[in-house]
Amino acid sequence: MENVKNEEYVICPRCKQEVYKEAIICPFCKFGIMAWLEGEIDENGEPIENKSK
Ligand SMILES: [Zn+2]
Repeated sequence: MENVKNEEYVICPRCKQEVYKEAIICPFCKFGIMAWLEGEIDENGEPIENKSK
């Protein structure tokens, strides 16, 4: 497997900017990137119930 650099980025669902995956919040709109990636909130910032414990 090659080291794919661009997988370190995600598109912020709120502002559509490229955001570093390890950013806790989007630097552009303050969206909670980490919480979203972990499935804690949806793209609207709404909390998601933890279905799989
Ligand atoms: Zn954003």
